[in-house]
Amino acid sequence: MRPEILYPFFADTISLPGVGGRIAGLLEKIIGRKVVDLIWHMPVDVIDRRSSPKLSEITYDQIVTLDLTIGKHDSPPRGTNRPYRVWCHDATGNLQLIFFHAKGDYIKTQLPEGEVRTISGKVEVYNNQLQMSHPDYMLLPSKRDEIPEIEPIYPLTAGISGKVMAKIIRGALEKIVALPEWQDKTLIKREGWPDWYNAINKIHHPKLSQDLQINSPARLRLAYDEFLANQLALEIMRRQNQKKKGRCLVAKGHLKQALLEKLPYSLTDAQKQCIEEIDHDLAAPFAMMRLLQGDVGSGKTVVALLAMLNAVENGVQAAIIAPTEILARQHYANIVEMLDGLGVSVAILTGRDKGKARAMLLDQLHTGEIDIIVGTHALFQKDVIYHDLAFVVIDEQHRFGVEQRMALSQKGPKNIAMDVLTMTATPIPRTLTLTVYGDMDVSRLYEKPPGRKPVDTRTIPLNRLGEVVQAIGRAINAGTRVFWICPLVEESEILDLAAAEERFHHLEKIFGSRVGLVHGKLKPKEKDAVMARFISGEIDILVATTVVEVGVDVPEASVMVIEHAERFGLSQLHQLRGRIGRGADKSTCLMVYGALTGQNAKARLKIMRETDDGFLIAEEDLRLRGAGELLGTRQSGMPDFKVASLEEQGHLIAMARDDARLILEKDPNLSSERGRALRILLYLFERDEGVKYLISG
Ligand code: ADP
Ligand code: MG
Repeated sequence: MRPEILYPFFADTISLPGVGGRIAGLLEKIIGRKVVDLIWHMPVDVIDRRSSPKLSEITYDQIVTLDLTIGKHDSPPRGTNRPYRVWCHDATGNLQLIFFHAKGDYIKTQLPEGEVRTISGKVEVYNNQLQMSHPDYMLLPSKRDEIPEIEPIYPLTAGISGKVMAKIIRGALEKIVALPEWQDKTLIKREGWPDWYNAINKIHHPKLSQDLQINSPARLRLAYDEFLANQLALEIMRRQNQKKKGRCLVAKGHLKQALLEKLPYSLTDAQKQCIEEIDHDLAAPFAMMRLLQGDVGSGKTVVALLAMLNAVENGVQAAIIAPTEILARQHYANIVEMLDGLGVSVAILTGRDKGKARAMLLDQLHTGEIDIIVGTHALFQKDVIYHDLAFVVIDEQHRFGVEQRMALSQKGPKNIAMDVLTMTATPIPRTLTLTVYGDMDVSRLYEKPPGRKPVDTRTIPLNRLGEVVQAIGRAINAGTRVFWICPLVEESEILDLAAAEERFHHLEKIFGSRVGLVHGKLKPKEKDAVMARFISGEIDILVATTVVEVGVDVPEASVMVIEHAERFGLSQLHQLRGRIGRGADKSTCLMVYGALTGQNAKARLKIMRETDDGFLIAEEDLRLRGAGELLGTRQSGMPDFKVASLEEQGHLIAMARDDARLILEKDPNLSSERGRALRILLYLFERDEGVKYLISG
């Protein structure tokens, strides 16, 4: 289905001159297997070789290309580490060429005494003597053309030298062809952008280092291409979804009213607004695809529950899916408590339910006896058949894959799309929301319920851990419960575990049976048992790997120690810290750091001390770490951009979104001339999943 014009772009790199199996393998590791991957591999700087001064004019280190007469060779005595030197001169002065570990014979043939050679490389001024070690080029003057005036420098790939890389990429550029213009002609004119082919060539054959700057017309053009491809793909999916009929779940209100009267608090304005937006979608005759975004503790659960009641009031079923067993149980407990006395039947189904009890539950789901089902992935299992499932809430969406979302949509009646509300506590910056969740509408809980006390956050070097332990002792004696978080080092879960176990034993020696340990390797039952003991107060200190990250609610816990806080991302620290500060007591978070390597580590911990605003923290996280690291690129389904930089070119996304909407409004199947060019764009950036939904044009 890929347009023919793109065939050469998607050829294997092995088809390029100079690329054999070994090089192709190296390229694949870092860049990719296809010619187009090389095209997206952009130089980071240039070497300008145009300068050809007289030797007497050179007073500082610089890159030059010179015609020099070769003089005497100084070969070092055998067995010494001294370099091989060759004297050269022009009419104004002399220069030493220096070779370490040189093969003398080779140099003698390359630089015969008395002849002139064109030599290019970096001259260094050393004790008033000009030197050049290992010139980049040494050619006959007649071959000067072989030396590029301006040479792009590519990010290094282990095992491939800069020169070889440049040559391979030149080969790739020769394979590709100009493509029809997919951008709006007036836009291109207004912005002064080159066409795609020229933009690519400008970047790979830069004339000045400015050509490579992130805000150069060529770079902006390519970034905008990529954002447009991203937004078009999302918009196609979104329109596809809207084509399906959805159910009109018009709020009746009796159950919601009863719940609101029962709640010991009144809703925040943000909650009210989100509920209104959700109700509006549920009542509309299309399927809802909405993201509910709210910081930890912003009160998402009650919003989701009110929305689910909307379904129950209409006599259909609702489900809420959590990423872990513990979270599912906590949702279940909360929901049961909130709905007590309302006559709504709630059940829970997780992977742990087996045998007779499970069979009975499935039966009740099938007959419609159950109104609201809470659970984990187990809710999508094949044999789980619903009476009439109309509405699903997904908690912490980034842990769910696309397939799971698909499996879910199969659970409703055919031809009617399910209403889906996704909740996330990850405060994704606005720019990213558009690229990750661009196919969803977004509601934001922009404020927290009143009366929360900010967590007192302090940073402490690891060598003062003894003091931390003492402080913990005082805290638990005063009746506080403590989370002690050990870092998860992604390379090795086993090592993490070892570190957590060691810390556990260390604390156990001091505090005895008041310490518990929970980590990802425990069986769900064991995990829950430890959590339950912490919740009930049987243990006061819970040593944990990051498994407590999401959602666990223990109001009595008002102290958290985070060991090696510098290894965590800001957003992750924020999520962790959100576990405390939920009760009446003032809370404290002790971020214990090891070596603060790099500028960022200090800056990051400082931000954590200074603010509790999840969105601000996310913006900073993005700025300091780059988008890929923010959510963990792969597992989160974050689009990872080939040329565009979210941090520096993110301002283009909103424009691309509006553009994408307008384009598909005017040309829903991309069948006009520009539409066909846009299809090429989608394939070029490998964002073509949605093209199959378009009527072929
Ligand atoms: P989230 O899931 O967004 O992290 P929760 O839904 O768990 O937050 O709510 C956190 C706590 O705040 C819960 O104990 C909940 O009962 C309480 N809460 C929710 N909304 C309000 C409100 N409007 N006023 C006071 N407390 C609230
Ligand atoms: Mg929650």
